Amino acid sequence: MILKLVTVIGARPQFVKAGAVSRAIAHQEGVSEVMVHTGQHFDANMSDIFFEELGIPAPDHHLGIAGGNHGEMTGRMLGGIETILIEEEPDWVLVYGDTNSTLAGALAAAKLHIPVAHVEAGLRSFNRRMPEEVNRVLTDHLSARLYCPTNAAVKNLAEEGIREGVLHVGDVMYDAALDARARVHSGSDILARLGLEPGGYSLASVHRAENTGDAASLRAVIVHLEKVAAERPVVLPLHPRTAQAAYRFGISLGALKVIAPVGYLGMSALLDGCVEVHTDSGGVQKEAYFHNKPCVTLRGETEWVETVEAGWNRLWLVPDYRQPRQPIDEYGRGNAADLIVSDILSVGAWSPSRQAGASVP
Ligand code: UDP
Repeated sequence: MILKLVTVIGARPQFVKAGAVSRAIAHQEGVSEVMVHTGQHFDANMSDIFFEELGIPAPDHHLGIAGGNHGEMTGRMLGGIETILIEEEPDWVLVYGDTNSTLAGALAAAKLHIPVAHVEAGLRSFNRRMPEEVNRVLTDHLSARLYCPTNAAVKNLAEEGIREGVLHVGDVMYDAALDARARVHSGSDILARLGLEPGGYSLASVHRAENTGDAASLRAVIVHLEKVAAERPVVLPLHPRTAQAAYRFGISLGALKVIAPVGYLGMSALLDGCVEVHTDSGGVQKEAYFHNKPCVTLRGETEWVETVEAGWNRLWLVPDYRQPRQPIDEYGRGNAADLIVSDILSVGAWSPSRQAGASVP
């Protein structure tokens, strides 16, 4: 029997994570994958380039849903995904991270009694004003298998009463980073094209609603980056949401080296060559560590607490103090995706109606 998985993705960080798991699925017997792209990110440099660079199978279904308020976007995705799941009749639905696509995929599946596997489960900022926090809490409570990247994630789930089906597998983004490392050195000429020297610039990324939703917040972040730019160039691959916000609020980005969003391999090369990272991205905080670079997180809290505890990361408004730098071993050995696929195969076809008593086979 072939186990049929439907993967629901739609936003840039999910392409990176799903790339690692898709590769593991392709190497396993007895499992097939149907790819659903919700359309949340649709520009060529926010979507297509990741499919090409990471070898992700082209979407079998593309919903083309982007824009609108959170509720509207999630609701439209819910309807679209439900139709696909009724047609495809998968054994499992696989969702990633914390976007509206994640929640819509998990909720559509749960309503049809299709078990949900959540990759990157258990992360918490404890800030319910973040749309991502609402999405991840709800998704975790709908999931039958919860694949945690860190020990803190396992603990967070336990504190919410979720103990069954929880596995600490490591971080699929670490798998992706290791896979890209070999190819980046030979494959990307991005530094030369941008006129950058290795060790001669800082790298920044900004896209969170809390930093782009109002003029004062965005201005504070840009003032911070301008201070960094007084020391050395700051390269900022500009997220479309941040571009729109800067335009709307009349905030100049002229002191920064602004470039269009880059693909995963280009970003890996930029991470490799930079001195340090300033970011509000979840993924980029860890990637700074994967590339041995210190990080300043442009947020009031982080879900990736181990990066701070191990001295690689600090919150921007906390004084410039870091713990001595230590290696972080909880992200795994680069085989998180294999562990996930093996686990799903070992569980097999499973009906949530058997969840009574909260015992997952
Ligand atoms: N990324 C990229 N190109 C860019 C900016 C980011 O490939 O121009 C990658 C980054 O390396 C990481 C992922 O996109 O793998 C993170 O996505 P994002 O910051 O949008 O989301 P978050 O991690 O905050 O959910």
